[in-house]
Amino acid sequence: MATKHILIVPGDGIGQEVTAVGKKVLDKIAAKFGHTFTYDTALIGHVAIEATGSPLPDESLEKMRKSDAVLFGAVGHPKYDNDPSAKVRPEQGLLKMRKELGLYANLRPIKLFDELLSASSIKPEVLRGADILFFRELTGDIYFGEKGRKNNGDTAFDVAEYSRFEVERIARKAFEAARTRRKKLCSVDKANVLETSRLWREVVQKVAKDYPDVDVEHQFVDALAMLLIKDPRRFDVVVTANLFGDILTDEASQIAGSMGMLASASVGEGTGVYEPIHGSAHDITGKGVANPLASILSAALLLDISFGLKTEADTVISAVDAVLKAGFRTRDIADSTTPASKVLGTDAIGAEVLKHI
Ligand code: NAD
Repeated sequence: MATKHILIVPGDGIGQEVTAVGKKVLDKIAAKFGHTFTYDTALIGHVAIEATGSPLPDESLEKMRKSDAVLFGAVGHPKYDNDPSAKVRPEQGLLKMRKELGLYANLRPIKLFDELLSASSIKPEVLRGADILFFRELTGDIYFGEKGRKNNGDTAFDVAEYSRFEVERIARKAFEAARTRRKKLCSVDKANVLETSRLWREVVQKVAKDYPDVDVEHQFVDALAMLLIKDPRRFDVVVTANLFGDILTDEASQIAGSMGMLASASVGEGTGVYEPIHGSAHDITGKGVANPLASILSAALLLDISFGLKTEADTVISAVDAVLKAGFRTRDIADSTTPASKVLGTDAIGAEVLKHI
């Protein structure tokens, strides 16, 4: 029996709605398996700016450091999306959290529940059986390099930078994961053009020598963007830099049917952070229709990776599967064959998952 302290960080928009459901799932798991989970909450993003002026107040960061794991929602608000000149922005809280906690590896499992084959815009015969684990580097690249304006503001620059050390540590994590899966690793870069990518490829080739049992291929990011849709089943573990990973994993979300289905884990030196890949979705905030399954699946990753509770994690995933098999859907994953009575809101589909746990 485990005793763990979990920090719930809902953030903005639907982050509030979906993490509330994710927490109920953790509670149910604790009750069923006899664990003791204690909770606290912390502010980040727009709500934190409104309350304190900072997108990640020191108090929140301190609470994160002291927790065993963080269940995170999303950050973002239309106010900032339409104001490129805003100096303080919700996303700064997210980047600071990743940097301060040393969360250099973002894991995104892309696996389609069979029941959702028809929810994807890709043909079922191309998708069936696709099972990819993305490793996106999270604390380097163009997002964290020097940025600014020159020539009276008419020219802008963002510097992309990677060190050998940064590439090696994510490459090793990806190789280790490949060993536990189908032993295939695809490293994605743009080594024909970018110097950071040439270093990336050099380091991955060197690390590969320590994993002779893993079959390695290198792809340019433009080719990978095409292959991912054309033949997703050919990939097992995919490892890539921050910017490429950001874009490719959103593309890959279509393999899983919806943004509302995809969970992620950010791990590294400090407390692990578990979050849906979607954003704050202000177009549906407050309507009670957000799909909480990505947050629930994030809770499953939390149980597995941070707490080592594999059976508990599998119980959550099986419960989600059972709810989908029973025909229940949220609006984003429903299709023309879904009866209106089976289209549930955020809390109602969460309640179905709880029943199956
Ligand atoms: P988004 O992921 O919030 O939404 C994209 C589309 O998918 C929207 O139509 C939305 O309604 C739908 N969607 C997303 N999650 C859903 C769910 N759980 N259930 C049902 N439908 C869902 O991306 P966006 O619209 O590009 O960005 C909105 C805000 O979120 C922006 O401010 C952006 O900066 C921020 N954002 C934050 C994160 C994060 O916190 N990790 C990630 C991406 C975007």
